[in-house]
Parts: sequence; structure tokens; C-alpha cells
Amino acid sequence: MRALLCLILLLTLFLAPLPAAAQSPLAVKQGEVLRFATHAAFARVHDRKFPIYDGTALIPAAVIDKPGDYPLELLSADGKTLETRTLTILDAHYLTQNVALSKEVVELKPSPGETETVNALKHLESPAKLWAEPFLAPVPGCMNSPFGVQRYQNGKPTGNYHAGVDQRGPAGKPIVATAAGTVRMVRSYNIHGNVVGVDHGQGIVSIYLHMSKTAAHEGDAVKPGDVLGYVGATGRANGPHLHWSLYVHAVAVNPSKWAPLTACAATAPARKAPPKKAPAKKTRRAQ
Ligand SMILES: [Zn+2]
Repeated sequence: MRALLCLILLLTLFLAPLPAAAQSPLAVKQGEVLRFATHAAFARVHDRKFPIYDGTALIPAAVIDKPGDYPLELLSADGKTLETRTLTILDAHYLTQNVALSKEVVELKPSPGETETVNALKHLESPAKLWAEPFLAPVPGCMNSPFGVQRYQNGKPTGNYHAGVDQRGPAGKPIVATAAGTVRMVRSYNIHGNVVGVDHGQGIVSIYLHMSKTAAHEGDAVKPGDVLGYVGATGRANGPHLHWSLYVHAVAVNPSKWAPLTACAATAPARKAPPKKAPAKKTRRAQ
């Protein structure tokens, strides 16, 4: 009887399905973030290597990543490949949007050090996790330009996509920290305007552009809801609004997947994908 029980137990073990995590396909849309539990220290996709904190991998897909299957390597702390899985990047079908800007604004060049400083901020990887979900909307206004749209300026393609969301708001409206973090950048730049950057820890960074006035200092510890500055139209902007970008391991991701944001009814492009043979030609004016 005991032998029979042992046999049944052994058979059960052999026939047991593999753990769900090893079977589930890994897929993520452009501009979104895949999460899964793992004991690995890093994940590598293409030439990008993402640190993994506290047993949860956050793998961002860029808007410009081509849809398809990619090898995703899970690495040990010393860089050895522990496992290779397949990551499928799915097309998010972002549309195009035209932005009307004056000649002076189009001709603006970055301030000395602007590109480098903002780039260094995006790449921060502070090990302590200060953020918690959900993130707050930084201003209460609706989104008049969503994330990911291919940008045209005055009808000409820029080759760029919108790496954040634009939220409509009257000039002077307070802009608040969307999550806890440390203020790492308070600057006044030609393109970004008056800008504040917050490091939320573990590779998550947010930046807030075009402020009329900043109200934070580099090194400040902020809580969700603390005022960072006020809505304005400084830098490359065609009217008062907040541009908010969220980065996960230096990749711009869709903030509306992290915070409760609503599209402005009149100007939001349709969310549905255009048919393949007729790419979206419609352009809309941003504010
Ligand atoms: Zn914007």
C-alpha cells in the first residue's frame, strides 16, 4: 500500500505541469512595461540591459521597437546567462499628430548641457524603491496630446514620437509629484523650458516640462502630491500645458498606464489602429 502511494506521488510529480511562470509567453506592447517575478539580477533585450530589483523584472518596450519576437536573456549578478526566453513586442498602433509651432520656437536649439543632463537623469538607477502605484495625475486637466504619437511640426515629419503626455491646464496651475522620489533636476532650458526631474528609485524617473515657475530644489525628498512647479509655456511649447514623461530604465513609457489620465474629448486621436494598407494621415493640432 505504501509502495503504491509512493508510486502515485512520484507519478503526480512527473506529470505535474511546469510552473506557470516558465510557460507563460512574455509579451509587451510598444511603450508599455512587462513585469514578471524572477531571481535574476539583470535582463537583456537587444543591447539593452535592465537591472532587476526585489525579484520583479520591469522590461520596457520603446515606441520605436519593431514588433516581433526577441530573445530575452535573464542574467546572474556576474553576467552569466541563466535562462533565455522569447519576448514578443506588439504593435501599439500609435497615430500621427501635427503640432503648430512658431518659427522662433522651431528654431530653438538646446541649451549647453541640456541634452546631456536630461539624458543622465533618465538613466538614474537608484536601488531604493520610493514609488508606489497608482501614480497621481500631475495636474487635473485632460490630455490633449497622448503618448506615442508620431510628431509632425507644422505639417513636416520630425522623425520623433511624443515621449510623454501633454496635459491641458491654465497657466499657473500647480504641478504635483506623481509619486514619491528625490528631485534630481531643476533647470531652465531652451527646449524643456523650466523643468523638474524626479528620481522615484529602481530605474523610474519622471520629468515635468514647460513650467512657468519651478517650486522644488535639487535634493528635495518629495511625497506624492507635493508641488513641483506651475503650468506654463516655457521652452518648445505653443501654449500653457504640462508635458510629463515617465521613464523606466531610460525608456519612455506611456504615463497613462501608470496614472489616471483622461483624454480631452475634442482633440484626442482615435485609439483604434488604422487599417494596415491606409496608414493614418490625419493630423491634429496640439495646444
Ligand atoms: Zn509634450
